[in-house]
Amino acid sequence: MSVLDTKNITPRSLSIFTALIISLINALLSLFVSRVWYTPLIIFVITFAIIYSLYYYTLQRFIYRKIKLIYKFIYQTKATKKEEIFYKHILPQKSIEEVSEDVQQWALQRKKEIEVLRDNERFRKEFLMNLAHELRTPIFSIQGYVDTLLNGALEDENVNRKFLSNANRSIDRLVRLVDDLDEISKLESGKIPIIQESFIIQELITDVYEEFSLKAKERDNHLLFKKGTERPIWVHADKPKIKQVLVNLIENALKYGNEGGTVTAGCYVIDDSYIYIEISDDGPGIGEEHLPRIFERFYRADRSRARAIGGTGLGLSIVKHIIEAHGQTVNVRSKPGVGSSFGFTLEKNKV
Ligand code: ADP
Repeated sequence: MSVLDTKNITPRSLSIFTALIISLINALLSLFVSRVWYTPLIIFVITFAIIYSLYYYTLQRFIYRKIKLIYKFIYQTKATKKEEIFYKHILPQKSIEEVSEDVQQWALQRKKEIEVLRDNERFRKEFLMNLAHELRTPIFSIQGYVDTLLNGALEDENVNRKFLSNANRSIDRLVRLVDDLDEISKLESGKIPIIQESFIIQELITDVYEEFSLKAKERDNHLLFKKGTERPIWVHADKPKIKQVLVNLIENALKYGNEGGTVTAGCYVIDDSYIYIEISDDGPGIGEEHLPRIFERFYRADRSRARAIGGTGLGLSIVKHIIEAHGQTVNVRSKPGVGSSFGFTLEKNKV
C-alpha cells in the first residue's frame, strides 16, 4: 500500500506524508545556508521527527478522540478489555473511509432492528384483535343461553337441556382455545424443550389413526397409508410433539374433508438424513390465495365453514412451531376441488 492511498488515509500515513514533505523542503532550504554535507540530513531528521509527532498527536487527540466517542456510542456498552484493545490499537489504524463505513453499517443495523420491532408491534396488535374476536363468539353465546335460562327457560323442559348443552359446547370451544394458546405461548417462549428419541413414524401414524377411527367411521372416512410407503422408517424426533402435529393434520383432513373421503399418509425417504411425511385428503382444497398465510395464527381459508366446524384457528400454527423447533420445514400443496396435502420433513434415525 502506498503511503498516501487516497481511499485509506490513516492518521499515521497522513502524518508521515506531511512530515516528509515539510522536512524535505527544510532540508533543501538548509543547502542555501550551510555547506556542510550532513546539515540537510540533520535538518531532515529533526523536522521529520517534530512534524510527525506533532501532527500525529494532534490528529489522535482531536480527531480520533471524537471518533472513539462515536464508536463508544455505537457499541452502547462499557468497553470490555477486548474493546479497549480495539480503541488503543485497531481504531488508530482505521481510515476515515473505514470509520464512515462502520457508521453506515451501524445505521443500517439499527434500521433493521426498528423494522423488526415495528413488525412485532403489528403482530402483537393483530394478535390481540384476533384473540378478542375469537373469545367474543363463545362468550356471547354462553351469555345468551344463561340469560335465556335465567329468564324462564330453565323451567321449560322442552328447551332447558338443549340450551345448556349449547352453552356447554361454547365452553368446550373456549377450553380448546385456551389450551391451544397455552401450547403456542409455551412453544414460542421456548419453554418446552425438544426431547428427541427414536421411533417408527408409521407406528405413530397408526396410533393417531386409531384415535380417530370412531370419528372417521361416523363420516365414512378412510384412513390409509400411501401404497409403497408402509416400510417402517425410524426417525429421530420428539415423539409426543410429532404426535400433536399428526393429530392436528389428520383432524383437519377429516374436519375439512368430504364425507366418505380418504385421508392418506405417505412417508418418503429423501436421503440418508431426512424423510418426508405427507398427510393428504381428497377434500375441497384451499384456494391459492390463502396458501401463503395458512400457517398464521387465527388464519382461516373458509371463514364461515371453519367457524361452523369449530376449530380454534391455531392448529396449523402449532404444527409449524413444532416442526421448526425441530429445525425442519413444513409445507402445503392444495388445489380447490382436488384436495390438500400437508407435508413436513424429519430427521432420519442414524442406525
Ligand atoms: P382450524 O382450527 O380453523 O382448523 P388450523 O390452523 O388447523 O385452524 O387451519 C387453518 C385453516 O386452514 C382452516 O380454518 C381451514 O380453512 C384451512 N385448512 C386446514 N386444513 C385443511 C384441509 N385439510 N383442507 C381444507 N382446508 C384446510
